[in-house]
Amino acid sequence: MGDIAHDEVSFYSNAEDYWKEVPATVDGMLGGYGSISIIDINGSKDFLRKFLGVKHFKMSSSSGSNNTEGEGKTGTRCALDCGAGIGRITKRLLLPLFSTVDLVDVTQEFLDKAKIHLGEDSKRVGNYFCSGLQDFAPENGHYDVIWIQWVIGHLTDEHLVKFLQRCQKALRPNGLIVIKDNVSYEGVVPDEVDSSICRDLAIVRSLVAKAGLRIIHEEQQMNFPKEIYQVHTLALR
Ligand code: SAH
Repeated sequence: MGDIAHDEVSFYSNAEDYWKEVPATVDGMLGGYGSISIIDINGSKDFLRKFLGVKHFKMSSSSGSNNTEGEGKTGTRCALDCGAGIGRITKRLLLPLFSTVDLVDVTQEFLDKAKIHLGEDSKRVGNYFCSGLQDFAPENGHYDVIWIQWVIGHLTDEHLVKFLQRCQKALRPNGLIVIKDNVSYEGVVPDEVDSSICRDLAIVRSLVAKAGLRIIHEEQQMNFPKEIYQVHTLALR
């Protein structure tokens, strides 16, 4: 066949089939690299804290704001974990920083496991949405932070741009969208195994711009194994 509509359908359905077979564990979420989870989470905490209005980041009166651009601080009421899987990020990053967290993922089995994985703190989860991000519309004006990690490669360019636009509408004042993902050295690298693609940083930046979003901060995650893709974190609004 080879027509685009058909290719798109199989791009998504092959990914769904792939994830259904992956064990609902931290190792499964990270393609066998469960051991890097702590480094990842600590890097994300340092990144996010630059923007949040939390006590342990009070700065001297001369500086006034802890924000890289001196804009208002991001609230800590509600976060959304996109492509959340079993809630690895919700558990160690988002629930410790936000009052409530919602999860969205295309794999129901992972969301079922998340309830167990999160333990006591699952009480502070608002919603477990089972949906592909390409079909998901987060509630308008609802979230302080929308965290999107290791999942953008499962969306086509067009769907990614449109999803980011819906995310922007879903932000509360001073809210933030964070993309943390693999970046290729150059161009688009397909992965036939999990039916995803890896984009280079210039492409990711251009899709972000196409969505009408501004990059307010960007960092590379350090201390990951040499053999895996570089991972970059982008704060957008
Ligand atoms: N972000 C999590 C999980 C990464 S694994 C973490 O870092 O721990 C990738 C996740 O994306 C899996 O849970 C898979 O079910 C989900 N996923 C794959 N395609 C998706 C899509 N189109 N929409 C939403 N979630 C998707």
